[in-house]
Amino acid sequence: MSLSETTPAPQTSCLADRPIKPLPSDRLERIEAWGMNTAALAYVFRPSTLEGVQEVFALARSHGRKVCLRGMGRSYGDAALLAENICLDLTRMNRILDWNPHTGRITVEPGATIGDIWRYAIGDGWWPPVVSGTMYVSLGGGAAMNIHGKNNWKVGPIGEHILEFDLLLPTGEIVTCSSERHSDLFYAAIGGFGMLGCFTRLTLQLKRVYSGLLEVDAFSTQNFEDIVEQFERRMDSYDYLVGWIDCFATGRHLGRGLVHAARYLAPGEDPIPAQTLRVENQELPDTLMGIIPKSVMWRCMKPFANNLGMRLVNWARFTAGNTIGNHKRVRQSHAAFAFLLDYVPNWKWAYKPGCLIQYQSFIPAEQAARCFADQLTLCQQMGIVPWLGVFKRHRRDRFLMTHSVDGYSLALDIPMYPHTRARVWALAKQLNQLVLEAGGRFYFAKDSTLDPDTARAYLGEETIARFVKLKRECDPEGLLQSALSRRLFPTLYE
Ligand SMILES: Cc1cc2nc3c(=O)[nH]c(=O)nc-3n(C[C@H](O)[C@H](O)[C@H](O)COP(=O)(O)OP(=O)(O)OC[C@H]3O[C@@H](n4cnc5c(N)ncnc54)[C@H](O)[C@@H]3O)c2cc1C
Repeated sequence: MSLSETTPAPQTSCLADRPIKPLPSDRLERIEAWGMNTAALAYVFRPSTLEGVQEVFALARSHGRKVCLRGMGRSYGDAALLAENICLDLTRMNRILDWNPHTGRITVEPGATIGDIWRYAIGDGWWPPVVSGTMYVSLGGGAAMNIHGKNNWKVGPIGEHILEFDLLLPTGEIVTCSSERHSDLFYAAIGGFGMLGCFTRLTLQLKRVYSGLLEVDAFSTQNFEDIVEQFERRMDSYDYLVGWIDCFATGRHLGRGLVHAARYLAPGEDPIPAQTLRVENQELPDTLMGIIPKSVMWRCMKPFANNLGMRLVNWARFTAGNTIGNHKRVRQSHAAFAFLLDYVPNWKWAYKPGCLIQYQSFIPAEQAARCFADQLTLCQQMGIVPWLGVFKRHRRDRFLMTHSVDGYSLALDIPMYPHTRARVWALAKQLNQLVLEAGGRFYFAKDSTLDPDTARAYLGEETIARFVKLKRECDPEGLLQSALSRRLFPTLYE
C-alpha cells in the first residue's frame, strides 16, 4: 500500500465563512509531497500572468475555497498541499523580466527556478549567491522557505540577497517590499511559507564569479566532535562547507563522515574562464561512467534500498573517502558541486513502495556534536537508521520565522513504510525533544512531523503573535492556507 493517501481537509471555522461551491472536476489532480509521505486531491490552476493569479484568488473567494501556493513542489512534507481546495501552481510564471550583466541584478517571475537563473547568468560571470541541493526549486518557493546553501554561515539565506519583491496580497493589493520598504512584511514574507501573499516578481543580487570552476578539497572526519572541530577550523578559508554523515556508524565512530570544502577562484586562477563559464561546461553528465543513462540510475539504487544495503553503501563511501579521497583536491564546476542530488533524477523512487521524511534540525554550535550524537543513537536504538545524513554550518538571520541558528544542521533522510509510520512519528517526537532541550530550531521546507506545541516552543509566543498579526492584515479572510499551516498554526485562522 502506498502511504500517499489523500489528506482530508479539516473543516476549520474559516471554511465555514462562505458556502463551498463545486469547481470544475477536470482541475482535480493528485498532488504529492516531495518525500511521497502525503498527498492531496486539489483543484490545480496554473496561471501564466499576474492577472491570472488574481483571477484564481477571486475564483477561490467566490467558491468558498482556500488557496495553497505551490512552486516546484520540492518541499519534503505538506507545505505546498491542501486537500479539496485550490492549488495555485506558479511554475508557468517563470520569465526572466530583467537582467543587468554589469551589476548582476536579476528580476524574475516567481516560477523561475534556481536552474533557470544560473543558466541565464553564468555566461556573464554571475552565479546565484545561495542555492539549495537541487536546482529544481522556484525562486518564489525558495523565498517562501528562505532556503539556505552550503555557504549559509558565510552569506546567510537567500532572503539576504533578495533586493526587492512584489507581493500580491489576498486582498488584491500589490505591495513592493525591500529591507527598507515595508520591512516588517519583507522579513516575514520571506520564510513565511506562502501565508502572507504570493510573490509575483523578485529581484535577486547574484554573486560575481571569475571562473566556472570551484577548487574543492575532500577529507574524512571520525565522529561528530571531529567534524565540528574541522568545520570551525576551516570556516574562514572556504566559501562552501558540507559534510556527509554515515548514519550507520556507532560507538567512537558515531557521526563519522566526509567533508567537501570549496572556494571560488580569484581572477587569473582559471586560465580559460570564458570556457569554464559556458553553460555546456556546467551541465551534469547524462550518464554514469559514460554508460548508464541518468533516467534509470534510480533503478540501480533499488537493490540497496534497505537497511543492509544502505549500511554497505555508507560504509563503502566512507572507506573510499577515508583512504583514497582524504585531502584530495579537485576542480569542479559550480553546478556539479552544488547539485549533487540532481545527478540521479528521481532517486527518491528507490524508496518505493515506501517513502521518506527528511528530519532537519538546527542546533547551536556548542550543543551540536552532543545533540546530533544523541539523535543518531536514538534512531539506531529504535531501528530506524537514516539512509543519508547531511551536515551544514549556519548563522543567525533577521527573518521572523527563521529556521537558522549560529550552529549546525543535520538533515536526515528517514525511510518510512506503512508498518513503520507510527514508529517514525514516535521517533520524531523524541528527536524534537532533544532539539528543544538544545535550544534548536526546525525548517518548514523539510518538516512532516512537528506539532503546534513544538512550533510554539522553538519560535516563541511573541514571534507567532507578530506573524498572526501580519496574517490578519494581509489576509483577513485566511484565503492562503496549506496542510502545514493548518497542522502547525491553528491560531492563524481563529
Ligand atoms: C533534493 C532536495 C534538496 C534540497 N536541498 C535544500 C537545501 O540545500 N537547502 C534548503 O534550504 N532547502 C533544500 N530543499 C528544500 C527546498 O529548497 C524548499 O522546499 C523550497 O522551498 C522548494 O521550492 P519549490 O519551488 O519546490 O516550492 P514548493 O515546495 O512548491 O513550496 C514551498 C513553499 O513556498 C510557498 N510558495 C510557493 N510559491 C510561492 C510564491 N510565489 N509566493 C509565496 N509563496 C510561495 C508554498 O506555499 C510553500 O509553502 C531541498 C529539497 C529537495 C527535494
